[in-house]
Amino acid sequence: VLQEAKAAGKSTGLISTSRITDATPAVFAAHLNVAREAIGAQWENDVPGAYLDGGVDVILGGGLRHWIPNKVSGSARRDGRDYLAVAAERGYRIARTRDDLVRTDGTTTNRILGLFTPSYMSFEIDRDPKREPSLAEMTAKAIELLRRNQQGFFLMVEGGLIDVAAHGWDGAALIKEITAFDGAAKVVFDFAARSGDTLVLVTADHGTGGLSIPEPINLKALAAAKASISAMARQLGPDMANLREVLRDYAGITDTTDAELERIRKPSGTHVGSITYKALQSVIGRGAWEIAALIAQRAGLNWNSSDIHSRSEKTYGHEGSPVPLYGYGPGADKVRGLLDNTDIARIIRKAYGFEK
Ligand SMILES: [Zn+2]
Repeated sequence: VLQEAKAAGKSTGLISTSRITDATPAVFAAHLNVAREAIGAQWENDVPGAYLDGGVDVILGGGLRHWIPNKVSGSARRDGRDYLAVAAERGYRIARTRDDLVRTDGTTTNRILGLFTPSYMSFEIDRDPKREPSLAEMTAKAIELLRRNQQGFFLMVEGGLIDVAAHGWDGAALIKEITAFDGAAKVVFDFAARSGDTLVLVTADHGTGGLSIPEPINLKALAAAKASISAMARQLGPDMANLREVLRDYAGITDTTDAELERIRKPSGTHVGSITYKALQSVIGRGAWEIAALIAQRAGLNWNSSDIHSRSEKTYGHEGSPVPLYGYGPGADKVRGLLDNTDIARIIRKAYGFEK
């Protein structure tokens, strides 16, 4: 859809709080023939070139590590290619901080590449608003640039960390991620309401973690968490001697029992040795998942059992349940009933006039 829009003379943009080279944005503009074994971070190194060759005009998110040459510290590349330099040569304005982004004049800039973190952007609950822009700020800047094209535009905005928070069972971080996404949706709807000729579709590619919210739920227990579980895990010493203090200061839990602390320090069960568990732990930090389980239990949230999670060795917890699809604007009347995911592309193509 993005490539067809481009070929029709429209401007295009991709935004994610995940790495901008991660799966959801990548499918719109990169088509790589990679072996199953290469899935992981390495294939993402081929995505920057595909985006720039494809001429995606607005590229905003995390994942700097895949754009900088291997000799630069923090690079995930295995070669010396410098895609920041390539982008600059091709007329992109490069933004590395929130300031760079908000100071960009969208009424005169045609192309922008904004990479704000080495890998994922920070969870909204941990984000330093001086360093990293919000999803709403990235969305507003993108529209400012893209709307100037008289032929129209295509923009995909992903709240990429909704999924990541749910992988870690982090209910407190999840609520803030969804609120941040809602803020970006407001920017889009305000624009669409004024423009009158913009189709807006809001959906998820899948659920994650099997969250259910039984009644009663203790929202105060979630609101008491002041940081993501990963940020909490980073505060733990090597032997987790300060675990009780971390839970008190960051999760607002003041009545931990010795048994609860022991379950976090020495997790047990079949899932602990699984590929899923190790992969998740390497991303979110040692102790993080167990802290999440404790907070969820105090708040009354239900997630997938750790046993189910341990058998999900491909996605580490994605779901096959149906997801909502919301539509607004011309063409949104097609958004009804039970649809296949591929129907979404058809709805967009019809709105553009590519298909009857
Ligand atoms: Zn996921």
